[in-house]
Amino acid sequence: MGLLEDKKVLITGGSRGIGRAMVQRFVEEGADVAFTFRSSAEAAKAMEAEFKGGSSKVKGYQSDAGSFEEAGKLIKDVVDDFGRIDVLINNAGITKDNLLMRMSEEQWDQVININLKSVFNLTKHIMRTMMKQRSGSIINISSVVGVFGNAGQANYAASKAGIIGFSKSVAKEVGSRNIRCNVLAPGFIATDMTEQLDDATKANFLANIPLKRLAQPGEVADAAVFLASDMSKYITGQVLSVCGGLNI
Ligand code: NAP
Repeated sequence: MGLLEDKKVLITGGSRGIGRAMVQRFVEEGADVAFTFRSSAEAAKAMEAEFKGGSSKVKGYQSDAGSFEEAGKLIKDVVDDFGRIDVLINNAGITKDNLLMRMSEEQWDQVININLKSVFNLTKHIMRTMMKQRSGSIINISSVVGVFGNAGQANYAASKAGIIGFSKSVAKEVGSRNIRCNVLAPGFIATDMTEQLDDATKANFLANIPLKRLAQPGEVADAAVFLASDMSKYITGQVLSVCGGLNI
């Protein structure tokens, strides 16, 4: 029996990278999974087809996590389709890197909106459902950059640090209702997002990672399985880094 047998899970940004690996890993553990995407409609259809006929239900939804209205509709649609939501993973995120001197207001606003406000949007709208269930696990994907900052990523680091403060506050507000809220802080993971980094930045990261390699997206998904499952039922308000020791 899987660690997530019969759990209903919603993962934002599940069409690529870490989110996609989480969909796959959660299905392996017996969960039914709803995932979102913003523009990768073909990839989402292919994923649905991949899992069709298996024991888990997997369904993709086009929904902009940065939109408060779309987040509300998404939660309603997923509850209608799946019956309840036991686990919410706020994973959708983007980068718009630039040194502060060159960063535009638009680059700031886009990153804060999609990375941070999205977490408010989804968490706010799921509260009623989880309160009624008197259970739930919310996992918010931050970054080690949100803990120690990074030159050229002031917008991204601010959004990821904001997620940590938000998550600790939510954990304190809803712990008495048996709703947990934790943070995963990945380091340097091999996805489209890190593919964009220049060679010097990659070499600098690698030099500082004690395990001397990038992580695969599935290694973040493994930590998400733990925080989603009852194995972590006494853990809330915590930040778990999956970074090969980059933060020590
Ligand atoms: P990725 O490969 O670029 O994939 C991003 C995912 O987010 C895609 O599924 C994308 O959908 C979705 N997305 C983007 N904007 C969205 C929006 N407005 N609404 C809904 N979905 C949206 O990124 P990743 O590397 O897997 O990163 C996933 C999360 O981990 C992010 O929050 C990122 O900040 C965090 N993280 C990543 C790393 C790393 O090294 N990769 C390190 C630390 C933290 P489409 O396919 O439709 O565009």
